[in-house]
Amino acid sequence: MAKMSERLEPFKKKVWLSSPTIHEEELAFVREAIETNWVSTVGENINELERMVAEYVGVKYAVGLSSGTAALHMCMKLAGERINPGAKPGRALDGMRVFCSDMTFDATVNPVVYEDGEPVFIDTEYDTWNMDPKALEKAFELYPDVRLVVIAHLYGVPAKMQEIRDICRKHNALIIEDAAEALGAVYTGSKLKGKCGSLGDYMVISFNGNKIVTGSTGGMFLTDDKEDADKVRKWSTQSREAAPWYQHEELGYNYRMSNIVAGIVRGNMLHIDEHIASKKAIYERYKEGFKDLPVCMNPFEAGAEPNYWLSCMLIDKEAMCPQVRGERDYLYIKEPGKSCPSEILETISGINAEGRPIWKPMHMQPVFRMHGFVTRDGNGRGRSNAYIDKGEAYDVGADIFDRGLCLPSDNKMTPDQQDVIIKAVRQTFD
Ligand SMILES: *Cc1c(COP(=O)(O)O)cnc(C)c1O
Repeated sequence: MAKMSERLEPFKKKVWLSSPTIHEEELAFVREAIETNWVSTVGENINELERMVAEYVGVKYAVGLSSGTAALHMCMKLAGERINPGAKPGRALDGMRVFCSDMTFDATVNPVVYEDGEPVFIDTEYDTWNMDPKALEKAFELYPDVRLVVIAHLYGVPAKMQEIRDICRKHNALIIEDAAEALGAVYTGSKLKGKCGSLGDYMVISFNGNKIVTGSTGGMFLTDDKEDADKVRKWSTQSREAAPWYQHEELGYNYRMSNIVAGIVRGNMLHIDEHIASKKAIYERYKEGFKDLPVCMNPFEAGAEPNYWLSCMLIDKEAMCPQVRGERDYLYIKEPGKSCPSEILETISGINAEGRPIWKPMHMQPVFRMHGFVTRDGNGRGRSNAYIDKGEAYDVGADIFDRGLCLPSDNKMTPDQQDVIIKAVRQTFD
């Protein structure tokens, strides 16, 4: 007979997955902007924020934009210009295949399509839950003409950038680094070292409301190339030329960051070290709390220092109860001693806390279902059920999506609240 579990009281105030953490300086910078009338897309907050972030990440130039997605769009245009000079606006990638991270938020991939590129998804590896260099290598065997790779660092854990860069150099491909979730994370490879956001040819961070540093919205393009920075500044402000009137010689965009948003980010950015420290403490408490369960936390390579944006867990195959997912609904069957993400997420939500499934891989998304997908063994779709294989899964992304979940990771959650969440998760294995 199943043992009786202690009934846990739901939290009076919801514990979020990851909500903005605002301090005193944000209001001071915003107030100053309003009181001095600097409320447009120029001003001290933008200038100072660009300087701070460039210095913090270790790049020469930072350009404040309205979102990380806008910054990614600018990267697609820059890369397209290098690879395909003369392509039409909206067609910078001109039908080319582009290798993309598969297990990521869709904002990584959408801008490829805005510029008429064709995303081909590269499977994930188990060591960091990011793009698998072996699958990338396989993809270059299948499609040797590809010249652009878009790579994300999931949940603030650095991808295997040394291997990825070596492969891309060998195949003469450019790298767009989507560090939207990874501001402050540090990568250490055999030769390549540095913060996420400094490791590609074109780099992006985001200040969206749930990221580790926020301005309610906002993003940045990062680069060491002055010409690229200048182009993005110009394109993002409707491509105005230096003339007495509105003079436009190429297509423009309204993508610049506002000085109000920059004030919030500027204040928030002063606290990035605290934010990372509290996220790390959350990760370690979960790790300790689950150490005798048949699960592991989202992993990272020795030498890497993630920003611990989201704490995630993966259930061992043997400890999974039966679970199936359709496009919008799911079913599972409770079994003693076993659990599954659906059961754990229901339990977490039952105590008024917010967890989330792992980002559903792009190759499984209906909008991208017709696109290529390359796994380590060169097979694409069709071997997506990890359980048909007793050894390593063929489709790693589908497997992590099946067995993993994001835990409440808000840095305003108290240790007492986290203890209740840990207890609740443990009970699902009773
Ligand atoms: C949040 C996010 C983005 C997009 O940033 P926005 O500022 O929300 O446009 C891009 N890629 C990844 C991986 C993200 O998590």
